Amino acid sequence: MSETDDTIFGRIIRRELPADIVYEDDELIAFRDIAPQAPVHVLFVPKVRVPTLDDLTPEQAPIIGRLALAAANYAREQGFARDGYRIVMNCNDNGGQTVFQIHLHLLAGAPLGGFGE
Ligand code: IMP
Repeated sequence: MSETDDTIFGRIIRRELPADIVYEDDELIAFRDIAPQAPVHVLFVPKVRVPTLDDLTPEQAPIIGRLALAAANYAREQGFARDGYRIVMNCNDNGGQTVFQIHLHLLAGAPLGGFGE
């Protein structure tokens, strides 16, 4: 694991803070969002330190695929893939990013509104 010690998610990865972890492997961790915006709201976070999508290098591009695949696998395993879900990644202030370690939001469990609703 690279240095993730300056975000709350790094502290969750190192088990310095509690979290409701639903999946983990060598590359990433997934846990329930503390302030869920849908009946299912899980965050998929890489263990390598990448503050924002804007910082992602070409060499790090596979990280995004791994996050998306882990989210899709989780949705299938939990039985809501066919009903549908949304994945979101916020970037910097106007994107609404508040934790500066990249993460994919997985939202599901109910029909989700369109943007701006
Ligand atoms: P962002 O706004 O895209 O950066 O998403 C950050 C998310 O992290 C928000 O949805 C927060 O509710 C969530 N969050 C912040 N602290 C914690 C925590 O300690 N555990 C789980 N989720 C958290």
